[in-house]
Amino acid sequence: MKREFETDVAIIGAGPVGLFAVFECGMLKLRCVLIDALDAVGGQCTALYPEKPIYDIPAHPAIEAGALVSQLEAQIAPFAAPRLLGRRVERLAGTAGGFELGTDHGDVVRAKAVIIAAGAGAFGPNRPPLAGIEAFEATGDVRYYVRRREDLRGRRVVIAGGGDSAVDWALALQGIASSIMLVHRRAKFRAAPEMAARLDAAAAAGEVELVIPYQLHGLHGVDGRLEAVEVAALDGRTRRLEADVLLPFYGLSMDLGPIAGWGLDLELHRVRVDPATGQTNVPGVFAVGDVVSYPGKLKLILQGFSEAAVAAHAIHPIIFPNEALHFEYSTSKGVQPHG
Ligand SMILES: Cc1cc2nc3c(=O)[nH]c(=O)nc-3n(C[C@H](O)[C@H](O)[C@H](O)COP(=O)(O)OP(=O)(O)OC[C@H]3O[C@@H](n4cnc5c(N)ncnc54)[C@H](O)[C@@H]3O)c2cc1C
Repeated sequence: MKREFETDVAIIGAGPVGLFAVFECGMLKLRCVLIDALDAVGGQCTALYPEKPIYDIPAHPAIEAGALVSQLEAQIAPFAAPRLLGRRVERLAGTAGGFELGTDHGDVVRAKAVIIAAGAGAFGPNRPPLAGIEAFEATGDVRYYVRRREDLRGRRVVIAGGGDSAVDWALALQGIASSIMLVHRRAKFRAAPEMAARLDAAAAAGEVELVIPYQLHGLHGVDGRLEAVEVAALDGRTRRLEADVLLPFYGLSMDLGPIAGWGLDLELHRVRVDPATGQTNVPGVFAVGDVVSYPGKLKLILQGFSEAAVAAHAIHPIIFPNEALHFEYSTSKGVQPHG
């Protein structure tokens, strides 16, 4: 069903930073509509690592990514921002004070300003080029995200990749998967030193089998049900690894998708902004979170939160040109739902 909205600010992307942008805008009485290509809010936190603890959110010594998203949802609930989920924004036209956005479902959002909080863009995993992989993806026997560790209880798991995700999951599935094999084409892993040391210990204890230096070569099974993963060494030797599930962790493709065609100043798949305002080269279009580029930018949730506050304050005069904005603490004004 096509939907139409008229609002002050259209927020593209409902990752943690897009969600917090609803709060910061709401506190300044700016009405928002939130749009995301995924059918759940939370961006990378929900799609990639909901059960992992995050340790660098201020005042939370540790908080699971999924719990952080739930807390953000509770924080923005008073502002009741309409959501368009499972809809990708394809089109952006207009100028400050009068933008029109169009989604792949034909929805139209008219907004006076736009915040792009699109993270890595319409992100997707890098898929290994293995014959017939689609059938195994359809059953979930090849999967790129682990939503719940428990789903893998008692299963024989092969993990492929040499970075943080591959190593973290090899460790996180100990005691849950019935066997864990980690395939990497080099002998050395590109993981944080502490995690690499823990992996060495797990391998020495026989809890994780390191299949190195090998790379994925083929999949065996019937009707999408995985029976074994074939791996090959550089010299052509192959091995058959009996398995129920393959988790390839070859990183995310950084495809900005349609955003790349909106006339924005880009730098290596990211949108350049003025860090003092969050504004892009197109007046009225702002960007926050992982999608932005400026000197000193860190791809951290906490920095994205601060960018959301900066952008909301910079947008206020576009929506209320005749009102001076008096800076106020939340402790003074409280949280007031829109009337
Ligand atoms: C395994 C892992 C561990 C991490 N650990 C930490 C950590 O400990 N601390 C930390 O600070 N950060 C961590 N991060 C990084 C953190 O998750 C990101 O910095 C954060 O998610 C960025 O938030 P965001 O809202 O900018 O973008 P994202 O979370 O990427 O969300 C962007 C959203 O925009 C949507 N979107 C994109 N294009 C469109 C479009 N055209 N139309 C509609 N929707 C669109 C996407 O579907 C997505 O949902 C980790 C990341 C990973 C993968």
